[in-house]
Amino acid sequence: MPTNRTFTMIKPDAVQDGHSGAIIKMIEEAGFRIVALKKTQLTPERAGEFYAVHKERPFYNDLCKYMSSGPIVPMILEKDNGVADFRALIGATNPANADEGTIRKLFAKSIEANAIHGSDSDENAEIEGNFFFAHIEQF
Ligand code: UDP
Ligand code: MG
Repeated sequence: MPTNRTFTMIKPDAVQDGHSGAIIKMIEEAGFRIVALKKTQLTPERAGEFYAVHKERPFYNDLCKYMSSGPIVPMILEKDNGVADFRALIGATNPANADEGTIRKLFAKSIEANAIHGSDSDENAEIEGNFFFAHIEQF
């Protein structure tokens, strides 16, 4: 059954550049309710765990280094059709291919430093939310 929840994190480049507030504003204006939010930083090992699905990919080591390079802002979000609607709001992985007005088009620097994460399925949204918010109850 769809959960209507998705998981996101504002990545180190966007946090460092002071875009967290603008990005959260876009998320709320798009109709997502913030269920949980914090600011934290991953170790390279924890980043590797989060992205374990990509461990055979050529970009994996750089990605783990980048994702642990500074603070991030993980959030659990709620909206009808949340996973798909959020992927549309953030745009393509490579900002060069992202639609106008998407978060990645506006704020991403590169295919790696692409400002924001969005879960790709209800199942992964739950796993990824639990990765950061292990003891969260319903809000
Ligand atoms: N990534 C990268 N190089 C690539 C593809 C992806 O550095 O060629 C990074 C990028 O930060 C991306 C993350 O790895 O967001 C996870 O990749 P995925 O294919 O899952 O993209 P996403 O689901 O984030 O759009
Ligand atoms: Mg992905």
